[in-house]
Amino acid sequence: ESFFSMNLSRPLLKSIASLGFNKPTPIQAAAIPVALLGKDVVGNAVTGSGKTAAFIVPMVERLLYREKGKKAAATRCLVLVPTRELAVQCFDVGIKLSTHTDIQLCLLVGGLSLKSQEMALRARPDIVIATPGRLIDHIRNSPAFTLDAIDILVLDEADRMLSDGFADELAEIIKSCPVSRQTMLFSATMTDSVDELVKMSLNKPVRLFV
Ligand code: AMP
Repeated sequence: ESFFSMNLSRPLLKSIASLGFNKPTPIQAAAIPVALLGKDVVGNAVTGSGKTAAFIVPMVERLLYREKGKKAAATRCLVLVPTRELAVQCFDVGIKLSTHTDIQLCLLVGGLSLKSQEMALRARPDIVIATPGRLIDHIRNSPAFTLDAIDILVLDEADRMLSDGFADELAEIIKSCPVSRQTMLFSATMTDSVDELVKMSLNKPVRLFV
């Protein structure tokens, strides 16, 4: 398996090469082709497996070429992660993989000023990467910001988000996203509560256990 055989566009192949990724990791090889088809995905993957690019690559590709013109000037992709640190790492990968594109990303985490994040949201970034608590703050306090146009939702480290006590926030956020969307969920462990979250938020997911 190679990135070239995945039918990715040139800007993305260039960014992948700049990152020094020569071939996909197992989770990338499994997840990217399925995600490019728009299917829901459940993957068991830990930090270090390359799972960030496994969901950012198809996200960027779909934003760029697969659904062009659809709901321009609206936030179309939402990535939820349990911690500020993971959000920053994910944002960094997102910035690098969208270098040769006009895709805009926004990071919403605690510790950054609400006001400046609110301004950033007004520009309708294509991709928002957030921790659940901070995202809820914005949904409640910035009436102009909605999740009405989300067509790709990623729940990263789902087990950790649940064990960190974000279950209610997740439920509220997921309910605010359109029903017709693609959802990808990654988790190091598949606990009963993760299974419940899968049932609640995914539609006939392809299950990847690599
Ligand atoms: P992640 O599991 O997404 O946090 O990625 C872990 C590390 O693997 C990061 O430092 C990535 O830059 C690196 N990485 C991800 N995908 C690849 C790849 N296909 N080839 C080489 N390194 C990779």
